[in-house]
Amino acid sequence: MTSTTYLGFPRIGRRRELKRALETYWQDGNATPLLDTAKALRRRHWELASAAGIRTVAVNDFSLYDHVLDTAVLFDAVPDRYRTLLRENPLAGYFAMARGNRELHALEMTKWFDTNYHYIVPELRAGQRFRLNANKPLAEWLEARELGIDARPVLLGPVSFLLLSKTVDGSDTLNLLDSLIPAYIELLEQLAQAGVAWVQLDEPCLVQDLDAATKHAYEAAYTALAIGTSPKRLLTTYFGSLGDNLTLATSLPVDGLHIDLVRAPEQLDSVLSALPKQRVLSAGIIDGRNIWRSEPARVLPLIEKIAAARGTDALWLAPSCSLLHVPIDASQETALPADLRSWLAFAQQKLEEIQHYAKALDGDATAKAALNEQSALLTARKRAHGVQRNEVRARANTLSPQATQRRSSLAHRRRVQAEALALPPLPTTTIGSFPQTDILRHARADHRAERIDNHTYEAVLREEIERVIRFQERIGLDVLVHGEPERNDMVEYFGEQLDGFAFTRHGWVQSYGSRCVKPPIIWGDVSRPQPMTVAWSRYAQSLTDKPVKGMLTGPVTVLQWSFVRDDLSRDQVCLQLALALRDEVHDLESAGIRVIQIDEPALREGLPIRHAEHAPYLDWAVRCFRITAGGTSDGTQIHTHMCYSEFNDIIEAVAALDADVISIESSRSRMELLQAFEDFRYPGSIGPGVYDIHSPRVPSQQEMVDLLERALTVLEPGQLWVNPDCGLKTRGWKETEPALVAMVNAARALRTAI
Ligand code: GLN
Ligand code: ZN
Repeated sequence: MTSTTYLGFPRIGRRRELKRALETYWQDGNATPLLDTAKALRRRHWELASAAGIRTVAVNDFSLYDHVLDTAVLFDAVPDRYRTLLRENPLAGYFAMARGNRELHALEMTKWFDTNYHYIVPELRAGQRFRLNANKPLAEWLEARELGIDARPVLLGPVSFLLLSKTVDGSDTLNLLDSLIPAYIELLEQLAQAGVAWVQLDEPCLVQDLDAATKHAYEAAYTALAIGTSPKRLLTTYFGSLGDNLTLATSLPVDGLHIDLVRAPEQLDSVLSALPKQRVLSAGIIDGRNIWRSEPARVLPLIEKIAAARGTDALWLAPSCSLLHVPIDASQETALPADLRSWLAFAQQKLEEIQHYAKALDGDATAKAALNEQSALLTARKRAHGVQRNEVRARANTLSPQATQRRSSLAHRRRVQAEALALPPLPTTTIGSFPQTDILRHARADHRAERIDNHTYEAVLREEIERVIRFQERIGLDVLVHGEPERNDMVEYFGEQLDGFAFTRHGWVQSYGSRCVKPPIIWGDVSRPQPMTVAWSRYAQSLTDKPVKGMLTGPVTVLQWSFVRDDLSRDQVCLQLALALRDEVHDLESAGIRVIQIDEPALREGLPIRHAEHAPYLDWAVRCFRITAGGTSDGTQIHTHMCYSEFNDIIEAVAALDADVISIESSRSRMELLQAFEDFRYPGSIGPGVYDIHSPRVPSQQEMVDLLERALTVLEPGQLWVNPDCGLKTRGWKETEPALVAMVNAARALRTAI
């Protein structure tokens, strides 16, 4: 008989209960309600999975903040500065590591593979000791057993744990493997003694490019874990193909292997021939990263093939990865059109699907009927109005190669723009948004709830735009912005105005800690029924003689921060977005906007996990950006903005965007990004952020002069722009005003010096 399971469940709760509980605790320091909420959520999620028919639920997938941080705490991999607090008040110490407090700064945070989830990076050092320091996995397992639920503790595997950590001294984290393994062995013993039958060891790093030393570390680690008393071990891999690590993964001494058959169905044959028959194969057959109902015509052949090759006694069916990356319950989305809702599967629906597949494979007629019904729904989806629109497809298919081109070379454009815009050397500007004041937030909420009409709302926005323009004129910025007061979110604002998008009410996904995002759903062909930003930009420009920068979110970023349809390739969806935005660019130009910024903060995070896939991704991503900006006249200055400072590996792609000006984050890293420009002569202009907008601290003029001088050691004076790191929407006016005044003064001081 086929078994069913899942690798992890969303923690935040269907109504973001955990978020609320966390934020209350952070305010009042009262732990009891937080811990009660956490416990209730765990129980609810296990019961929900059991009700869906799942045989073994996951435990220790839950976390109050982050599972990598939990692993660090579990093995006492804690920097000394937190220890006193941790001893006095473990919960306060834990959150100090996660998010800092008045005295202690937080651990670093970074992206979890190619997802939008951020994990806390454990901070290790050479010679570090580990010991088993907590019993969270066992405690959660006991909690489930008390409810009569069969459970499997989820652990981050030792090698991935080390690979995802960093050392303060720059030493190789894998050097610590020998001292870490005994702590894992002790944990496995503890679990086995308590009667735990299986543990899950997550090793997502097995889908990355690994060097020989790392492969060796895998062998050493798993050989050592196999020696002691231990529950059976399920080694899980996800987010891609094992590729050249396949032999390694199938030969490690474990009792089961989970593979991702959604992103990498092609690996099934080789896994079937390499994996010993008595091992459990956990087949990740439905997408844990997206929200669409699975296509039985894709899934059934895969699982039938497995059953034919090795029977079903050692077969588990599961989603491809943890369900952390999807919302919980699509049936809550009653405001969506019924047909669209019927195409969606969030975590709960995915578990039901898994159950249907298992039962259908075992010959159950009801399950087969349910899958037939699902196929019928998906056939209807293909034909539904708006999913495929001929005019959108035709435009994408008949694009001329010219579409990716500006009219002249960057060098020529620079001369034309210098004359047209007549900017001083070291021009000053901002990244787009200005502080979102309470007045704006209330006006937006009132407008959404229809407590105020369009006219009143727009008057509030116009007033704000005028205030922002006058402010910028007064302090002497050179290229102005309208401040983006009309935008709730840089993707949602555009999605709401484009065809092919839908928005959920409760479709929240954890981004980090209590922070959640609600990605739009791209379900149909994308087009732009009418201009989206032109009226606001035109109004702002009408108030001043200085150039006002039009502000758009680029196609790659919209794609990256949405749930994307699974019936069209990502590059094609991106192309449709690019064409819609291209029309906006041209309309802005016709409305007299001479500077247009196309933000692509997510360009880098879209990079695939495997290096071999970088170039094809960058190819289409760059092409889409170029199509968005293509065809504009030489005098129109195209800017782009990116919020990260690791630049070296993609600098050629960034240059290939052919933007006239790019602004990038760099102040926190003290202009480290400039290293990238030492060997690579960047052809366009660059605004490396001169102050960190993520902090309320007001930087001094001298600090910014220093940073700019450092920038001038690698950049030509004619290349350098002066701007903050990112948009100012999360800042208050109190710090924004003095910071920008100091920034403008820094530019002025330096102008006289060069
Ligand atoms: N233009 C946007 C802003 O200023 C850019 C935001 C971002 O880079 N994430 O808010
Ligand atoms: Zn930014």
